[in-house]
Amino acid sequence: MVSAALTRLQFYFQSVKMQLLAIAVLTTTLVGVVVQAADAYPLSTCVVSGKTLGSMGSPITILYKGIEVHFCCDGCVKKFHADPATYLSKLGKKEPLQ
Ligand SMILES: [Zn+2]
Repeated sequence: MVSAALTRLQFYFQSVKMQLLAIAVLTTTLVGVVVQAADAYPLSTCVVSGKTLGSMGSPITILYKGIEVHFCCDGCVKKFHADPATYLSKLGKKEPLQ
């Protein structure tokens, strides 16, 4: 009798543990999705040429004053640096003061 109760108790704790694990995994997944959505780059095209990223080979990503900007090619990076404010506005961003 005692061992049967003990087994049942063990089973109960095990299922609680599994539930907690499931909740932890679910929470991590949900938080991960939200964080990813907030960080997602808004455009699938080059801010300079307007071409689809990846259509000219591997897209180039730079960090301009902390802002992530993606380009289709090297030439567009050069054009961006000639007039960053214009291209940043396409991302809905203003050029940072520093
Ligand atoms: Zn380009």
